[in-house]
Amino acid sequence: MRCSQPSTPNLQEPPTAQNEAAGGGRKVVLLGDTHDSAPIRQLAQGATVLSHEATFLDEMYEKARVAMHSTGKMAGAFAREVGAAKLVLTHFSGRYGHGGEPAPAMSEDDAERMDERDLVMLQREAERAMRSKNVTCAYDGFTLRL
Ligand SMILES: [Zn+2]
Repeated sequence: MRCSQPSTPNLQEPPTAQNEAAGGGRKVVLLGDTHDSAPIRQLAQGATVLSHEATFLDEMYEKARVAMHSTGKMAGAFAREVGAAKLVLTHFSGRYGHGGEPAPAMSEDDAERMDERDLVMLQREAERAMRSKNVTCAYDGFTLRL
């Protein structure tokens, strides 16, 4: 598990009051590679779930900009801007997850702990920007039940 979210791949949550008022509908917004989500701002308003890439930590903002990717902070800020109820982070740089090679001086266990810590840092960064704890990091096979 690479995130500090529940280890079960299925998250079942009750409909939000906002969606109840709208007749129980759900709005799911899935974004791919982006460094500027502004063009979809209006469509994304009030998303039940926003899936947004968070390739890097904000300390690597410049690298994110050059690669046309986003940081955890950017994803969280956009989620807040559109009033998303839940933010799912995707597309992590290999440096934060299983795609990363363990540094030579590290044991496999150390490397795994480092990966977990880094993804939690990405999640925390997004949570701070969103001002919500309703953030999770996706992983291969991740399922979110609405
Ligand atoms: Zn990409």
